[in-house]
Amino acid sequence: MNKGKKLYEGKAKIIYEGPEKGTGIQHFKDDTTEFNNLKKSTVEGKGVLNNRISEHILNNINQIGIKTHLIKRLNMREQLIKLVEIIPLEFIVRNIATGSLTKRLGIADGTVLSKPLIEYSYKNDELGDPLIAKEHIIEFNWAKESELNLINEYCLRINDFMQGMFRGVGIKLVDFKLEFGRSENNGEEEILLADEISPDTCRLWDVISEKKLDKDRFRKNLGNVVQAYQEVARRLGIIHEDSNISEVKFGKPQVVDLKK
Ligand code: C5P
Repeated sequence: MNKGKKLYEGKAKIIYEGPEKGTGIQHFKDDTTEFNNLKKSTVEGKGVLNNRISEHILNNINQIGIKTHLIKRLNMREQLIKLVEIIPLEFIVRNIATGSLTKRLGIADGTVLSKPLIEYSYKNDELGDPLIAKEHIIEFNWAKESELNLINEYCLRINDFMQGMFRGVGIKLVDFKLEFGRSENNGEEEILLADEISPDTCRLWDVISEKKLDKDRFRKNLGNVVQAYQEVARRLGIIHEDSNISEVKFGKPQVVDLKK
């Protein structure tokens, strides 16, 4: 499928114009960053895995009645999407306290929350995506109160669905980030789930060993990043048991001495 001009390039993805008006092509890169670009690396195969994992999750979310921007996956690294007007907010849903929550409030890492907690941050790289309150969102017109209420409901339904899906394959859904956008459908504005859901945007722990199967492996220099993402894809039945997305290193060619 022919790509149009580049519309946006983020840390892990590029959005191009799509073949028809209102469509885009979302390309998943292997690049990974942390601390707002201070730590960067390339994890070979990550883009391919995130493309597949995100396709799987968004298709399932669509089946529970929440519309998403995903039209279809095109190939190993690309998805055809509906272009939406992104709401400049990140919705963080937490089931277990860890990461910035524990750092900010001194709560013990791993504390199970009595109910899911939704936090908002303002999408702004220069400001480091600051945590904000609902009142800021309304005051600065980032979203209307009615949109926010609907998105909160979507966040909880997505959390319920994803917790069950991951639990079934021995994974705890610790926390994750969602983004939403506005789109027009027959003259009516609707809210669509946008961006991606993958081990880049979720914290996923093995139920028994609590082994991290997400981007924290990169953030905390734990190694085996792509192997962890691959394990998530395998457990979800997205890739075959024997597939290996990571780089295959061939040794140097050796001269074979053929005896006459
Ligand atoms: O860092 P923090 O604990 O606030 O992250 C909460 C969750 O949101 C994690 O799953 C993290 O991967 C995700 N997140 C994200 N993109 C960001 C910030 C957080 O995907 N810009």
